[in-house]
Amino acid sequence: MIVDIHCHIDLYEDPEKVIERAKGAGVCGIIAVSMDVESMRRTLSIAESFKSIVKPALGVHPLTVQPNFNVEIDLERALSLMNKNSDKLVAVGEVGLDRYQSQERELQVKQEGVFKAMLDFAVEKGLPVIVHSFKAERKTFSILTEYGDLPIVIHWFTGPTELLEEGVRRGYYFSVTPAINYSSKVRRVVRRVPIELLFCESDGPVEYRGAVGEPADCRAVAEKIADLKGLEMSKVEEALLENTRRVFKRI
Ligand SMILES: [Zn+2]
Repeated sequence: MIVDIHCHIDLYEDPEKVIERAKGAGVCGIIAVSMDVESMRRTLSIAESFKSIVKPALGVHPLTVQPNFNVEIDLERALSLMNKNSDKLVAVGEVGLDRYQSQERELQVKQEGVFKAMLDFAVEKGLPVIVHSFKAERKTFSILTEYGDLPIVIHWFTGPTELLEEGVRRGYYFSVTPAINYSSKVRRVVRRVPIELLFCESDGPVEYRGAVGEPADCRAVAEKIADLKGLEMSKVEEALLENTRRVFKRI
């Protein structure tokens, strides 16, 4: 049995079909991350309809923190919805920093403030955090030092090797996308991170070389992990499930 620990299930046209295909591939759990208040609402409603398999994670994604994002109004709305539904959540996510599309200092400061608010929420509720750190790995890791005890899952890491090693030393988890099929940076994560700290994710509906990612793809990701680690597939499935139970205690 496989768990997709990071999927934007609310962004598919027909989530039901995606969920059916996931079940067919032996995926027994999908952690549904969100982006903003609207996406949080959709995610909660899909999770409600497919309770046995879809588990919600709420959070404000760094790419939704745009110049028109009003910290007083928009962050407060998000936190209020998160608070109201906190007993249903398995994690906080997708949250973090992104400097690829946000190069203005003012915007970065705003993103950092929102990220810290998300981390404070996770501490308060005792929830693990699914972290986006694209092109902002150093700053993300520096902020995370202030949150030593939180279980952290770094999603789709492509940053410097030294930070990957630092993450392993800190006991962070790393989740691997279908980009494992062609990206040397993703394969490096699998080679350098012990199986006890790995997860697989689709990040769907992100496209991988033109193919829309889905939770069902996590089986192939796990097979590729088994291949790169020289382990039996059954051992990988067992280890990843064990990691899921350790980190996402409400699943
Ligand atoms: Zn994502």
